[in-house]
Amino acid sequence: MLKSEEDRLYKSEDYINKLRYIAKHTHYQNRASVNEETVTIFSLSELRSLTYSNELRSLEFDTVFLGDFVEGRFPENYRPDPLLPENPYRNEEEQLYDSRFIFYRLLKSFRERLYLLVPQREREAELIPSPFLGQLKAITSVETIEVVNPERGSVPGFLSTYGNHVWTTETPFDGTFPVNLMNMRSLIKHVVKVEKSREKTHKHLVYEGVLTPETLSPESRAGLEERRQRTYSVTELETYAKCPFQYFVNNVLRFRVEEEETEDELSNRRRGSLLHEVLFEFYNNRRENPRVGRGFEEARQQLDEILDAKSEEHRNQRTENPIGENNIFWETDVEKLRVALHKWLEAERNYDLPVTPHYFEASFGQDQESKDPELGCTTPISIGEVRMKGKIDRIDIGNGAFNVIDYKTGSSTIRMPEILSGRSLQLSIYLQIAKQLLANNGITDLEAASGLYHKIRLDQCTVELGIGTEFLNGEAFKNYNGTDWKSVSSRSGQLLDDEIFEDRLVRVSGYVQQYVDSISKGNFPLITRVKTFVSPKDESETGDCVESNEIPEGYGFVESEVDGHKPLAPSNKTEPCNYCVYKRICRVGAIAEVSQSDD
Ligand code: SF4
Repeated sequence: MLKSEEDRLYKSEDYINKLRYIAKHTHYQNRASVNEETVTIFSLSELRSLTYSNELRSLEFDTVFLGDFVEGRFPENYRPDPLLPENPYRNEEEQLYDSRFIFYRLLKSFRERLYLLVPQREREAELIPSPFLGQLKAITSVETIEVVNPERGSVPGFLSTYGNHVWTTETPFDGTFPVNLMNMRSLIKHVVKVEKSREKTHKHLVYEGVLTPETLSPESRAGLEERRQRTYSVTELETYAKCPFQYFVNNVLRFRVEEEETEDELSNRRRGSLLHEVLFEFYNNRRENPRVGRGFEEARQQLDEILDAKSEEHRNQRTENPIGENNIFWETDVEKLRVALHKWLEAERNYDLPVTPHYFEASFGQDQESKDPELGCTTPISIGEVRMKGKIDRIDIGNGAFNVIDYKTGSSTIRMPEILSGRSLQLSIYLQIAKQLLANNGITDLEAASGLYHKIRLDQCTVELGIGTEFLNGEAFKNYNGTDWKSVSSRSGQLLDDEIFEDRLVRVSGYVQQYVDSISKGNFPLITRVKTFVSPKDESETGDCVESNEIPEGYGFVESEVDGHKPLAPSNKTEPCNYCVYKRICRVGAIAEVSQSDD
């Protein structure tokens, strides 16, 4: 029945209903009547409600088939829609968590066999397997059953058979080939060459992001070499650390996925800029008296006025999809930000250390002058031999020390493993740059005490230590948990003995140098293919690095060993793939990652 209507496009519910009809009217052995359900078919939304009502827990089947097990379908792509939410999740992470849970339940619902159906194409578009498949393969054995030639007699069937032939034969047969498909022959051979190299032979590293000199024109080689002299921001080097290939697409090819402002709300990017602008203006007006203590009400009023003026400026900047005055969605978002800022102000009011906000938005290496009139420069600041540019949200000074502060609206927490794995460079680098900027201003008597995150959020406002020295804990900085300021717990991994603190900063500088060396050599492997990382146990007592042999295939994305340290292995190397928009470009799921057992 489905075949007879094969040209028609079905909505998934229609398709599922037809499958149900077929199942109901098919005769199975041992079934007493058509009313006895032998085959049960669930849509994804039914599966979701069954999972959460705990019914799936009690259901067990001999055989379970999970259809459409491809990228974008399971787990589904996240599509936020504040007006008519198609899914009930607040963010992508929540949806991914939910899909993982459903998948876990499914894995527990079969007695004999589980079939994960991975279609290869949808019309002309090639599909790639669900990322869950790779993760499942990493922890258990999954048998692959290739459905060879599903479309026998059709053009795709013929091409697929020829592709298999080219894949399995050293010298493919070049005889009779339909004239109308002749131009496909060389294409198929090329595709097989690429895929074979990516999966097995690794003869053509360029298809895995490693641009070896012989694959590049002299101009391209020179272009890469020039990247040694470029001025880098911390953000772009962090992108390189998370996935060199993502960096390549983003920063070398310059593909950009702009966040479209189609909703009547503050986009994440705009919310961040608005917050930074408000806080800069707030402290810039209070340079003489930055402490928020007495005069709290006045300070709050100032903050409100700045927020009103700045949010109005942002509303007027929305020329593509203009926002009218009194737009309820826009206003609601601004009010949420106001509540978050009031919570933050309350924290500032209760802060009791003599270390006070002093420099605001001190920038370096950027075309425009620093917004801070005392600190900052347009020339880049060097970390090793790498020229850096950026902007430090705030520097507090006092008690012979200084803290570097970064304002955040997100909820993620940076821990020491992210710093050691080279994925979080910001605070460690900014501490060193702040020291240089201060020295350029003749201030050499302040010690770097800490890098702090001020998380300014509607649900809670907190101050968290990113990296800090034990010696000045409670003297130059504290944590704020939403209610009280307290010295950082001595058990915190972010708090370091003086010597180790210095050592960590040097170590992170080493990463920066290594990344730039590697970029200029054309090393842009997919993160799944990177083997450079060392595990902590591979670092000998002397601090020398021994390369991990856990991953037999893959490529280093750092080659030199500045200060003898390579990044430690991140806890989940492929985590950046979860939210990456370039999956269809790098086609990460198309490579059998047999060697990635560390994930
Ligand atoms: S999907 Fe993963 S491997 Fe591919 S570019 Fe993104 S982060 Fe890199």
